[in-house]
Amino acid sequence: MNKPLILVVEDDAAIRNLITTTLRANEYRHLVAPTGETALLEAASHNPDIVLLDLGLPDLDGVEVIRRIRSWSNMPIIVISARSEDSDKIEALDAGADDYLVKPFSVEELLARLRVTQRRLAYMSTETMAANSVFVNGSLRVDYAGGCAYLDGEEIHLTPIEYKLLCLLSRNVGKVLTHTFLTQSIWGRSWSNDVASLRVFMATLRKKLEAKPDSPQYIQTHIGVGYRMLKVE
Ligand code: CA
Repeated sequence: MNKPLILVVEDDAAIRNLITTTLRANEYRHLVAPTGETALLEAASHNPDIVLLDLGLPDLDGVEVIRRIRSWSNMPIIVISARSEDSDKIEALDAGADDYLVKPFSVEELLARLRVTQRRLAYMSTETMAANSVFVNGSLRVDYAGGCAYLDGEEIHLTPIEYKLLCLLSRNVGKVLTHTFLTQSIWGRSWSNDVASLRVFMATLRKKLEAKPDSPQYIQTHIGVGYRMLKVE
């Protein structure tokens, strides 16, 4: 198999070098783009496997770069943001980014984020996902056609909202879903800020799904951002 090609979009030369050195040492190929415009050109001409995108670029807004890429491609985008840019990070996820890294990040964190995205890509290309009627993750099985979910072969009794939440998370396995995305998908636009209700339903869903709700195996919490279902090995 070819080594994955990563497009690194970062205007800060020191961070860019740290990333490319890490990629080179870990069997990834890479391309670099120091601006949003060059990022769009490189993305279109080389069709990279994953884009690592800094949100603070000198020319275009990083979120604008995501919107433009999303207008023609679903290539995975991991955004890199500074800690102070929390709202930018959420905006980026809502615009279609798959995941995020917060500066300063370690080499291990960077590699872990890349691995999560690669697992998601590998999973998305499997037959199970293509058939689209059953989702299997560890001992969890969601039968979309039948409208039910099982854990170790036992049916889990879910309320309609819990089931809807489970479907949203499983259909986007590996991807961070924001509070806004989840609440809008469940309750529609008018209730989009009801994060408190979302937390309640997420807590009851977890109780039914997770062996240890305090150290969840399936659903990860991203404080102030949203939730992600992890692909269990
Ligand atoms: Ca920057």
